[in-house]
Amino acid sequence: MRITGIKTEYISMPLKKPFKTALRQTSVAENIIVMIDTDEGIIGYGGASPTAVITGDILESIKGAIESYIGPAIIGMDIEDFDRLIKKVHSSIYKNTSAKAAVDMALYDLFGKHFKLPLYKLLGGSKKEMESDITVSVNSPEEMALDAIDYVSQGYTTLKTKVGVDSNLDIIRVKSIREAVGNHIKIRLDANQGWNAKEAVGTIRKIEDMGLDIELVEQPVIAHDIEGLKYVTDHVNTPIMADEALFSPEDCFTLLKNRAADLLNIKLMKCGGIYNALKINAMAESCGVECMIGCMIESKIGITAAAHFGCGKLNITRADLDAVALIAKDPIIGGVEVKGNTLILPEGNGLGIVGF
Ligand SMILES: [Mg+2]
Repeated sequence: MRITGIKTEYISMPLKKPFKTALRQTSVAENIIVMIDTDEGIIGYGGASPTAVITGDILESIKGAIESYIGPAIIGMDIEDFDRLIKKVHSSIYKNTSAKAAVDMALYDLFGKHFKLPLYKLLGGSKKEMESDITVSVNSPEEMALDAIDYVSQGYTTLKTKVGVDSNLDIIRVKSIREAVGNHIKIRLDANQGWNAKEAVGTIRKIEDMGLDIELVEQPVIAHDIEGLKYVTDHVNTPIMADEALFSPEDCFTLLKNRAADLLNIKLMKCGGIYNALKINAMAESCGVECMIGCMIESKIGITAAAHFGCGKLNITRADLDAVALIAKDPIIGGVEVKGNTLILPEGNGLGIVGF
């Protein structure tokens, strides 16, 4: 099966409620959809979400990278020459991980369609469901507690709470959520780089002393501060997860070598797709470090690709794939189905995306 063309489309999806973190606020999800055409008439689907403050990728750069660099590099290649094909994607342009991820997932979609298997099975998985957490956006403690109660009533058993704006208020926010939902619900925190190392240790220790029972804290310090991240990891009992500090497999090596984090958050938009996600997961698993599969505010294509990866590998022990539940209207047909807190993969080959 040969690649004959590549196209992109822009889609805009309203969110149910504005998404607010320490870094940004948005009420609409804008994505680029990629369609790879083949000589057999089969189409591979991929998608990318621009998260300028994290990846540096914007709608125009994603579209330009795909249409002017990545696409021309792979047109004419055979889907059975898969390893070379993916390496071409990565060597065609520097950085631009979101554009690469969109093309990578479309190629895995075609790979599964060509060999007539759902992607999670090709990756070695036997389960087709995974539970996801859901994000409680940063708002007043009262509003966050109400949102938390609402999510629990929808079936969520793990809440991810955005912190990192103001340490004292952060503690009050976490306390109000814990009091609202009781002790049987897991709470994980994401500071999105909002603290410095000492502030993070002080805040996390206070939360520990208050007995608020936090499962993990994501990215307490700025992405490039590996020493700071290690300092936090070494000085608190709560497991620390790297997110923005982990883009590439090379970043993964640095984090593992320095024992800078207890856990890793893999996102396809950061690492450039499933191929690199598999490398990162294999390195982490070899070092006894579990991974979470996370997402940006992606359409159902990106979430479906991430869920296939998550279901394909046992070392992916956690999922933060809530975009599909945060988006009010998604034009994608097929892909994951959401039941309460569970994502269920479709039966179709490849990603199981039907179209849009
Ligand atoms: Mg995060």
